[in-house]
Amino acid sequence: MSEQNPAKLVTEYFGCNVFSDKVMRERLPKDVYRAVRRTKKLGCALAPEISGAVAHAMKEWAIEKGATHYTHWFQPMTGVTAEKHDAFLNPAERGGILLEFSGKELIKGEADASSFPSGGLRSTFEARGYTAWDPTSNAFVKDGSLYIPTAFSSYTGDTLDKKTPLLRSMDVLSQQALRILRLFGNTTATRVITTAGPEQEYFLIDKKLFEAREDLIITGRTLFGAKPPKGQELEDHYYGNINKRVSDYMKDLDEELWKLGVYAKTKHNEVAPAQHELAPVFTNTNIAADHNQLTMEIMKKVATKHGLYCLLHEKPFAGVNGSGKHNNWSMASNDGQNLLDPGDCPQDNLQFLTFLCAIIKGVHEYAPLLRLSAASAGNDHRLGANEAPPAIVSMFIGTELQGVIDALEVGEKYRSTDDKTFEIGVDVLPDFPKDTTDRNRTSPFAFTGNKFEFRMLGSADSISCTNTIINTIVAEELCQIADALEGSQDFTGDLKKLLAKIISEHKSIIYNGNGYSDEWLDEAVNVRHLPNLVSTPDALPEYITPKSVALFEKFKVYTEAELRARTEVLLENYSKVINIEALTMIDMVKKKIVPACLDYTKKVCETGTLKRELGISSGIETELAAKLSALTDAIYRETAVLEEKVITAQDKNAGLEMARFYRDEVFAQMQTLRAIVDETETNVSEDSWPLPSYSKLLFTV
Ligand code: ADP
Ligand code: MG
Repeated sequence: MSEQNPAKLVTEYFGCNVFSDKVMRERLPKDVYRAVRRTKKLGCALAPEISGAVAHAMKEWAIEKGATHYTHWFQPMTGVTAEKHDAFLNPAERGGILLEFSGKELIKGEADASSFPSGGLRSTFEARGYTAWDPTSNAFVKDGSLYIPTAFSSYTGDTLDKKTPLLRSMDVLSQQALRILRLFGNTTATRVITTAGPEQEYFLIDKKLFEAREDLIITGRTLFGAKPPKGQELEDHYYGNINKRVSDYMKDLDEELWKLGVYAKTKHNEVAPAQHELAPVFTNTNIAADHNQLTMEIMKKVATKHGLYCLLHEKPFAGVNGSGKHNNWSMASNDGQNLLDPGDCPQDNLQFLTFLCAIIKGVHEYAPLLRLSAASAGNDHRLGANEAPPAIVSMFIGTELQGVIDALEVGEKYRSTDDKTFEIGVDVLPDFPKDTTDRNRTSPFAFTGNKFEFRMLGSADSISCTNTIINTIVAEELCQIADALEGSQDFTGDLKKLLAKIISEHKSIIYNGNGYSDEWLDEAVNVRHLPNLVSTPDALPEYITPKSVALFEKFKVYTEAELRARTEVLLENYSKVINIEALTMIDMVKKKIVPACLDYTKKVCETGTLKRELGISSGIETELAAKLSALTDAIYRETAVLEEKVITAQDKNAGLEMARFYRDEVFAQMQTLRAIVDETETNVSEDSWPLPSYSKLLFTV
């Protein structure tokens, strides 16, 4: 392989482990292939009559790729993926075997769902869960198994996963967006798809150092660690040249992802030391969600091959930036139009502005939902901490577009920055700059030329929840616009009036300034009255407000019971994460940190005694030993307090009360304890400290 041109090779091996359209065309009977195509295009389920033929072709292909098993691959509410593998093998006559895979096994699987979180939707006596193939997302072979991307629901039909609501939301958005396109005279589009391109941040550290830290192994982040002499203040890592070890890793990662048909495209160093980013080419949201899950998994796998460990936690290290995931989002019609592209004819502009206004209204009306889609214990470290957007949702549209909607609001001509005037809906508007200096990196929801970028997500999050919410709120606003205008006698006139009204009522969600500033916090909360849902326990109850329930039930994306279940699962997860972190801290303190402090103090004392015996003054030993002794006492005391709090937490009512207690009492105490341990670390010799330092972790790859 190494002698050939690697660029040419990519075109050969890209997607080689995917049961792709190309493979299907080659291997399926024509009519079956056409039926599958139709299914994929319209986003509906595969007809049982053809599933047998598809399953057969899939099995033959997978076996050629070395697969012995198949698995329905799904995304339970835990946010990670789940799989259970069955061999193709079936006993045959005279002790032989047959390798079989039926149509039924392809389209529907049965999984014991009793150990997946269900938020009370499923009692253990009806533990069965079903998985159903999502034929719009391709099957693939990995590690000797055929992976079939599936949705997961309970026996009674309640959704238990992240894919089903996403698929439902894509359908409703399509229906409502098509109504708008019809109003603009489009008769060709039959489906509108939503697209996503998630930029994935991650840290790479040396695997040996990782293994020496219980906190990283158990929780994915450092629970202790004194600040190193250098952090990210020199800004020398962002886009810096990529060292050999990391670039070898990235190359390997690209190759593995390309084989699985993931369009990994952009890679670079990020702001924090040891931090990097990978961005794929955007694709359908449900495929992007699957691919992002695969990307995270492969990132970890490839890292171990290189003696590295890949950290996907939102805040692995205090004092330097954590990792996020920017969700770039747009809508495209199946006749080839990006609906967020301002376009190059006047009618296109008005159509674009209609979609834009729907988004502005949706984000304003349902800001709390967007906020909660990024809520997790890990991400709470980032939002509002001047490294990621604040917990307040607002939108950035840029000066040029702001000028256009200002003009639309008051029904005037738009005057561009170079002083030309344009009549909206009559003239062709100028190109909006896609990448200008006024491009704002501090906004939670930013228009970037022909798409929106939602920047609140944490690096470990699934993108499904966010996209489900964006799709549904935009569908609702498009529905309202279509309801108002279908049957209008003066479409353009009425539309302009409606858009002006939307802008006037909802423009307070737009903020083009610095989202990290204190002035914004003050203005957003006190003047504009935008919700500031600081932490996860603040945000999650927004799932089940009457307004949210009405929205999701209207479009059958979630039932109220499903929303309640999700809220419960997420709140419980929040408490569990902090509980595990607290227990890990306690364990580390007792088993490693306090013993190390005692040993080191003893060493210092012994040196002092020895010196005194020799008649040498031992001032610093006494001082240092006293200091260490006081710090060790404090560590011991604060750990006891933490233990108390963890015990008390168990008496709280599960759900919100418990989550709040973990936030206000347990987490707060963890920070108190950490501060003392970190101070102690700076007073102990490196050889005696039981954990690899931040300097080692961040600067040795
Ligand atoms: P930046 O870091 O400047 O925001 P990147 O190039 O790293 O930009 O990432 C931009 C992401 O946006 C890519 O994943 C890209 O594929 C995606 N993107 C571009 N156009 C669209 C679109 N129409 N819909 C969804 N995502 C898009
Ligand atoms: Mg970006």
